[in-house]
Amino acid sequence: RSGFISIIGRPNVGKSTFLNRVVGQKIAIMSDKPQTTRNKVQGVVTTDDSQMIFIDTPGIHKPKHKLGDFMMKVARNTLKEVDAVLFMVNADEPLGKGDRFIIEMLGESKTPVILVINKIDLIHPDELMESIVSYKNLLDFAEIVPISALQGNNVDRLLDVVKSYL
Ligand code: GDP
Ligand code: MG
Repeated sequence: RSGFISIIGRPNVGKSTFLNRVVGQKIAIMSDKPQTTRNKVQGVVTTDDSQMIFIDTPGIHKPKHKLGDFMMKVARNTLKEVDAVLFMVNADEPLGKGDRFIIEMLGESKTPVILVINKIDLIHPDELMESIVSYKNLLDFAEIVPISALQGNNVDRLLDVVKSYL
């Protein structure tokens, strides 16, 4: 199985930490441009039976600014071109305005969205249940996976889940 995954989330939720942990090698050159928009390949995870190509989604990362129509279009097109979206949030922070903006946009797309609740090492299991409940109502997430990108908890399970959507 092989496919494209976009990681979306506010700054500092742990996107780079996750990628650094899972991405074995950085690909310097992609011989064929796989997609129509100019998405930046952030890294590739290769296993025995799968290849997961993580790409950046321009536009959707900057919810503090009101996006122009053009950037919204770019973000929407990117969402169409990926097989799955990882929407990453902080376990130790309440749902913010920026998250709501992103969730609205994700709701308009048919691409499966996997909610990744990161930094579970910083919270009590009861708090995790609370945040799962608060997010659950906002979007029909394909899966909800709590992880600690820093410590590695549940990261393999997340990759298995991603694989199942490729
Ligand atoms: P990005 O902006 O989304 O790429 O976030 P980074 O990967 O740069 O992480 C932001 C900060 O959060 C860094 O100080 C990381 O060490 C920290 N961080 C990331 N993942 C975790 C985690 O699972 N647990 C804890 N405690 N800290 C984390
Ligand atoms: Mg980063």
